[in-house]
Amino acid sequence: MTSVLYTDISSLVTNDQGLELGLLGELKDAALVIENGHISWLGSAKEAPDADQKVSLEGSSVIPGFVDSHAHLVFAGNRAEEFAARMNGENYTAGGIRNTVSATRSASDEELDENIATLAIEMYRSGITTFETKSGYGLNVFDETRSVRLAAQHTEDVTFLGAHVIPEEYAGRTDEYVQLVCGEMLESCAPYSKWIDVFCEIGAFDYDQAKVILQAGIANDLQPRIHANQLSASRAVELAVELDCASADHLSHLTDKDIDLLANSNTVATLLPGAEFSTRSEYPDASRLFAAGITVALATDCNPGSSFTTSMPFCIALAVREMKFTVEQAIWSATMGGAKALRRDDVGQLAVGKSADFVVLNAPSYLHLAYRPGVDLISETVIAGTSIHRSNK
Ligand SMILES: [Zn+2]
Repeated sequence: MTSVLYTDISSLVTNDQGLELGLLGELKDAALVIENGHISWLGSAKEAPDADQKVSLEGSSVIPGFVDSHAHLVFAGNRAEEFAARMNGENYTAGGIRNTVSATRSASDEELDENIATLAIEMYRSGITTFETKSGYGLNVFDETRSVRLAAQHTEDVTFLGAHVIPEEYAGRTDEYVQLVCGEMLESCAPYSKWIDVFCEIGAFDYDQAKVILQAGIANDLQPRIHANQLSASRAVELAVELDCASADHLSHLTDKDIDLLANSNTVATLLPGAEFSTRSEYPDASRLFAAGITVALATDCNPGSSFTTSMPFCIALAVREMKFTVEQAIWSATMGGAKALRRDDVGQLAVGKSADFVVLNAPSYLHLAYRPGVDLISETVIAGTSIHRSNK
């Protein structure tokens, strides 16, 4: 078995709080050894053991690969015109999703698959090493099933989101559509999915409908997560906590009661600053969540309507500037927070035995991710010990 020593790392973010080196467990002048796709050693460069190969990172910094716990990558077409119109003063509503639904239904499997692959490559280039992706632009049994089937070829964290919006052909018959989602559609999608999700919102699915759908998923061995409080404060957070959802996502409108509920739960609060940015909406204040001791994740929400970005560094910069994250909180939320939102303990941190998923930054420290917005600082992305992206220096 070949072992590889990466050394001359000026700053190594481990997220290992056992090291008692702050929230990020930051080691200076560090090294790490990789064997069989996992980390077999890490510590001070001076004490590094021998390995079969040695790679000098020449003073670069290293962080765990980003874990993007919320993305919608299975779709066709784009909504650039809608974005432009919105920037020209029109409001964002859930209705725009239906345009992507028609484009997705018309696309071939090959087109959909290629679109996922292209976006996945963009993600790797932005330092993301694990991503979740959802269905939700098929909204019938055939197109939802092929959405999760295609997604499953790209990630193990596939989410069935048949309850994204009510498709046009079911207008005024929401309860019938809920029955379809909980019945035939769920049965067909469950074998390819790990998660079930609902867009709980005015104009989409209310508390009672969302509850029925998530419970049906749980009964079919899917784990629940939820789109909550994006456009208004509703009972979605209450439902998330009641059903032990792994994550409640968006949370753009939070009451004090919601914060109390989340603080006494295992549900991660996932914030999606790309959505506020692209819909010109008010950003939630993450400092309220951190003050209450809530676990927070940051994700891209990559989707063609309200957040068409695959850049986690962009989301980090927004989170720090607009949502009152400290830089450390933003880096933690985009790595360990994302892993917790996916209930995974093999990624999101760098420690012995964990997957060797990491990012080499073309910068002396992680601070530059927020300090240099819009600048590509991702020098190399490594997944399970294999380099999958290297920038042309
Ligand atoms: Zn979403």
